[in-house]
Amino acid sequence: MSSPKQLIEGFSRFREMHFAKDDTLYRELVEQGQTPKTLVVGCCDARVDPAIILDCAPGDLFVIRNVANLVPPAEDQGHYHGTSAALEFGVCELNVEHIIVLGHAQCGGIHALMEGAMHKKDSFIAEWMGIADAAQQYVQRELPGADLRQRRRACEQRAILGSLDNLLTFSWIRERVEQGTLTLHGWYFDMENGQLLSYNTTTRRFELL
Ligand SMILES: [Zn+2]
Repeated sequence: MSSPKQLIEGFSRFREMHFAKDDTLYRELVEQGQTPKTLVVGCCDARVDPAIILDCAPGDLFVIRNVANLVPPAEDQGHYHGTSAALEFGVCELNVEHIIVLGHAQCGGIHALMEGAMHKKDSFIAEWMGIADAAQQYVQRELPGADLRQRRRACEQRAILGSLDNLLTFSWIRERVEQGTLTLHGWYFDMENGQLLSYNTTTRRFELL
């Protein structure tokens, strides 16, 4: 279900649902603009589309997707900050009330990080995954005897916490969190068991939602 021909057929069904029948959703979205209350930072992985797994309608979510659902720290240097620019738009222009960093099981980006991809030369992925290096170091330090699956899972979840910390390095996020107008969430989609977990800041564990 992903050849261009099949996608065009999919668009025909979508068009029939939202534009041919008496459906006011897109008319409202066009007239009133987008007003999502939640921004999701998700992974590019084809299996974890936030709008699909959270069963959302068009207009519900402002979604940023990148390799391993990482949030970089606020930085002045460099020129092209896709994730930071999208965060700025969602927070400062759309005034979202929640940011969810949505990690997931079997994350290829995290697995590559754990297998040393960061040390590859001339790789955009290597440079990018450096954002989660602290998560990998944590796992090496704290779980040296755990099996591979446990260590991968721990790294996937630890990287979410690193991204939550990095969100607070953006002044316009930190200020809103301190004022209570913006709440940050760390979620983990366990696709192996069909479960959604959330980080509990009191117990410091990912718990079933
Ligand atoms: Zn992933």
